[in-house]
Amino acid sequence: MNDLSRRHLLAGAAAVGAATALTPLGALTARAAVPPAATQAPGFYRYKVGAYECTSINDGVFLRPIDNFVSNVPKEQAQAEAEAAYMPKGMVAVPFNPQLVNTGSKLVLIDCGLGVGMFEQSKGRVGRTMQNLAAAGVDPKSVDVVLISHLHPDHTNGIRAADGSMAFPNAEIMVPAKEWEFWMSDENAAKAQSNEMMKGYFANVKKIYTGIESKVTKYDWGKEVAPGITAVAAPGHTPGHTTFAIASGGSTVLIQSDVTNIPELFLRNPDWHVAYDADPAVAQETRHKFYDMAAAEKATVVGFHFAFPSIGHVEKDGTKYRLIPVAWNPVI
Ligand SMILES: [Zn+2]
Repeated sequence: MNDLSRRHLLAGAAAVGAATALTPLGALTARAAVPPAATQAPGFYRYKVGAYECTSINDGVFLRPIDNFVSNVPKEQAQAEAEAAYMPKGMVAVPFNPQLVNTGSKLVLIDCGLGVGMFEQSKGRVGRTMQNLAAAGVDPKSVDVVLISHLHPDHTNGIRAADGSMAFPNAEIMVPAKEWEFWMSDENAAKAQSNEMMKGYFANVKKIYTGIESKVTKYDWGKEVAPGITAVAAPGHTPGHTTFAIASGGSTVLIQSDVTNIPELFLRNPDWHVAYDADPAVAQETRHKFYDMAAAEKATVVGFHFAFPSIGHVEKDGTKYRLIPVAWNPVI
């Protein structure tokens, strides 16, 4: 009973290998009569906030080399932390999870992924929002509001379909006023020309929003932007980066957007800076404020870059934080 040891585990693996090697071909064919499915199940997960039904929609998981992913510690240190979280060697896995909120009167999509154009390019790794919405039974025409947290490509490019038309043709597009002001400024764009990353971000915002400027509603922090959904200031990652509090029937959920990127690195090391931060020092301050509050309130937190279904609770752990993900629940 209690003799499980490394030797037994390895012996077990060896025995399986040996058995496979010695199994006659006929037996192997019989075992493979049902071919492997080779595709993943649709990525959507429903949860309630009071009377509201919310759905976490997975846009995919992007694998990137660790390189300069953490900008203020040596690569080796970041790599060791990623390996401790069992990420593929030298890589980080970054998930993307837009959130759909059915308030009873409005269907609100918070952030919208990288867009279907990325689906082919990434061999289906990302750009899965539309197909996962379809799997969840959601017609894009029924989305009333697309609420954008900030204007980075993984959060905003999905407002366009592959042919450039609007992916959610009846939706009001809502963008933080501060964010719009920053990215739409020619002066800011000119200043960013020496920084490849920022230059790319400015070009992307132009590409996505040119021609639809008049359709965009700009919103302010501290305001209810859709029924029960309040925009909360969380600057640093970008100047107008916004989180949301969804409140219904005495329950609240915090949509943290990119207060951190992946929790395996940045909740564990809240003073580490992700390469995509516009103002890392302000982002770090925002991060501590946000998680201290979330931990004290025992709030449910939804993270765009948390592992699917991207919902959990944040606890203080000395000078660090730790994420306790919610367990899959078959009942909504
Ligand atoms: Zn992001």
